[in-house]
Order: sequence, then structure tokens, then C-alpha cells
Amino acid sequence: MTLLQLDRVTVAVSGRPVLRQVTLDVRAGEAVGLVGESGSGKSMTVKSVVRLLPTGATVGGTVRFDGADVHALDAAALRRMRSRDVAMVFQDPRAVVNPVRTVGDFLTEVLRDQGVSRAEATRRAAAALSEVGVGDAARRLRQRPYELSGGLLQRVVIAAALLTEPRLILADEPTTALDVTTQEEVVAILNEQRRLRGAALMFITHDLELAAAVCDRIAVMYAGEIVEILPAARLHSGARHPYTRALLDARPGAVPPGERLRTVPGVPQSAYTAPAGCVFADRCPHAEPRCRDERPVFTGSAACHLLGAL
Ligand code: SF4
Ligand code: MG
Repeated sequence: MTLLQLDRVTVAVSGRPVLRQVTLDVRAGEAVGLVGESGSGKSMTVKSVVRLLPTGATVGGTVRFDGADVHALDAAALRRMRSRDVAMVFQDPRAVVNPVRTVGDFLTEVLRDQGVSRAEATRRAAAALSEVGVGDAARRLRQRPYELSGGLLQRVVIAAALLTEPRLILADEPTTALDVTTQEEVVAILNEQRRLRGAALMFITHDLELAAAVCDRIAVMYAGEIVEILPAARLHSGARHPYTRALLDARPGAVPPGERLRTVPGVPQSAYTAPAGCVFADRCPHAEPRCRDERPVFTGSAACHLLGAL
């Protein structure tokens, strides 16, 4: 069953395009990774799902969640969707958790807002905390954010995200601020717990390998567009778009030890100065004259004029 459906979603901020024709479905319980360099439109895509767009943004296309047109919801329905059906986990947990209140206050508030009794909210908060591995849950409930490491605090935020039994979790680089070992643990916990609950996940990262480890499918974004969508299991063997291949070549594991780290050659294209044709034309090693003028149609799994020939 399709839970979320983005159909040719286009967003412009102050008249400048930041997302162009983004089409993507997420099935119930499915994990979809959004990967790409900074500024490729990953966060904007996720924000369009919950209408958290900057002021002055204009939106085209449609976003449907469980069949309902998200951009047509009234304020009450939107609030319900944001507080129950969809949960969000962002990069910096300290920006989300009130620094002067306890972890227990933070967690129970979500449920209290939904009319759950204090005792029941505390019980469920403690249970959710134990599931994300924070040690002594009862003690954590009494602590304040500054007493916890970034990794522990992000686990608290994940526990909060799980508390309302959401059907979709939007995670925007949830571990970028953490050290590498902690990153892996925190992502594993998030993924394990959302799977147990059957919640779908949209997982934003610039780390292809991490996306492949966590997700069922991967959507690769560049300059405000999705250029390729492929099953995570076929990331290495099945990537066809030149940008996806360049990303794969640039990843740390692809470089023999001792050799300098490769990056995708050239400068990332911004969405608002993208050529009329293919957004990757300026950096693509295969670009032909028509690539700059003719926009490649997304066929099968990727948008590239030369798919058959590469
Ligand atoms: Fe490269 Fe042309 Fe394909 Fe774009 S359409 S990715 S420029 S070959
Ligand atoms: Mg971002």
C-alpha cells in the first residue's frame, strides 16, 4: 500500500526553484533513503511532506499522505498529521529538546497533548526509552538535556518520535552531529524500532553506504531533482545515472588505502541556476551538446539521455 506519494512536487522560494518535479512513492513500512550533496533538495523534499516550507515558498504538484492531499489539509488536520502520523528526527537533538526541562517532561508532553493520563504517559515514556538503549530509563527521565551526550539525547528524540506510533518517520541526517561509532548505533536503533512498529522511513543522508544499509530503496537527488531511484541491494551493481556512479566512486571505501580521497569533480549545481536540460550536464563526463538543452525524462529508474548507451 502506498502511504506517501509525491507527484511532480516543485518548490520555489522567492521565485527561485529549489525542487523540480520530484516524484516518489513510499509504501507502508518501507524505508527510502534520500541521498545527494548539500543543497540537492533532500531536506526540502522532506519538508514538503509536512508543509514545513520557508515563508514565501510556492508549491506545485501534489503530496498525498494516506490518500489525503497534504497541501489542502486544514490547520487541525495538519496538526494531527504532524503530531500523530508523521514523526521527525533532525540533525541536532539539542535544537529540539527544551534545555531546562527534564527528559521525562519532554517525552510525556507528546502523549499528554493527546489526552493520555500522567501515569500512563510516564509508563509509556519509560518503556520507549528502554527500547532505544539509554541505560537506566528511570534515571534518564529525571535528567536534563545537558547531562546527556549527543548520542544519548538523539536516542531520547527517537524515543519521542516512536511514542505516538507514527506511520512515517522523517529523519534528516539524524546522526551527522555524532561520532562515527555512535552514528551507526543510533541509526541501527532507529531502524530496528521503526521496523518493529511497521513505520515507514524517509532517511536523508549524504552517506550512500549508510543509506544502503538502512533502506529498501534509494533516491538520488541532484540540484533539486531526483535523478535516480534504485533498490538499495542493487546500489553497486545497478546504479546507472552518471551522478550516482560518481558518488559511488567518491565514497571513502572506493579509494585504495593511501590514495587521496576522491570527490565528485566540479562544483555542485544549484537548483536555481540549473541548465534547461540535464541538471548534471556541467559535471557529467558523458555530457553531449543536447544534454544542456533537452531535459532527460525520468524513465524506468533514472533521468539521463544516454541510459541505454552507458
Ligand atoms: Fe550526463 Fe547527459 Fe545523462 Fe545528464 S543526460 S547525466 S549530462 S549523459
Ligand atoms: Mg539538508
